[in-house]
Amino acid sequence: MLEVRQIDVRYGKRTSVSQLSLHVKAGEIVTLVGGNGAGKTTTLKAVSGLLPLAHGEIWFCGERMDALAPHQILAKGLAHVPEGRMLFKDMSVKAHLELGSLRTPAHAASFNDTLAWVFELFPVLKERSQQLAGTLSGGQQQMLAIARGLMSQPRLLMLDEPSLGLAPIVVHTLVDIIRTLHAKGLSILLVEQRVDLALQLAQRAYVMESGQVTLSGAAADLARDPKVKQAYLGLSL
Ligand code: ATP
Repeated sequence: MLEVRQIDVRYGKRTSVSQLSLHVKAGEIVTLVGGNGAGKTTTLKAVSGLLPLAHGEIWFCGERMDALAPHQILAKGLAHVPEGRMLFKDMSVKAHLELGSLRTPAHAASFNDTLAWVFELFPVLKERSQQLAGTLSGGQQQMLAIARGLMSQPRLLMLDEPSLGLAPIVVHTLVDIIRTLHAKGLSILLVEQRVDLALQLAQRAYVMESGQVTLSGAAADLARDPKVKQAYLGLSL
């Protein structure tokens, strides 16, 4: 479904992602993990067209994406829920969801059907549809950021650090939602600082260090890998 082939991404002269390749198959949850500054966010931004490639190619559902603008990539069915949520604090929940539906793939369901589906997934957003985003709790804001992404009816959802700053109980809700979305057939590329959670949720994983993939494989195998345990799971050898 998604194929990232040997991409380099630079900020000015500095290369932040180098020769990175990864893929996501239809119906998979794939996670990209690594320490701070490893290049995970940069990779997601390159996939969604927010950063240009210095080298390499990105393909999605058989089409080359890396020359397209972000709104065109979204309309192909590839949505990005950014780190930090990027909501407009003075805009209502409903207005965010309308914004999320502006670019939908061809043959998409109607706005009302998608809204009903999203409200079923996030009942709290239905209750608060007229409330301003800035007045929501952190967990509700994260739900809104995901819901806005879903309003574009993506085939692949990229989630950047969805659990960041959330209370443990809200993280549980988030995990349930990711599992529900996956069960409904959505493919997911997950960047997550809670490596333990990410490896539980995903079928496959890539570990990034200094802009490169240094390990990849089945998530269950990586969760048992001594190097991963030591570096990311807080366990000593
Ligand atoms: P984190 O979990 O801390 O967000 P990350 O793995 O997502 O880490 P990136 O944010 O992709 O890492 O950063 C990769 C590298 O690119 C880092 O060295 C970072 O300092 C650099 N970088 C990120 N954004 C910019 C920017 N706007 N301008 C210049 N350098 C940047």
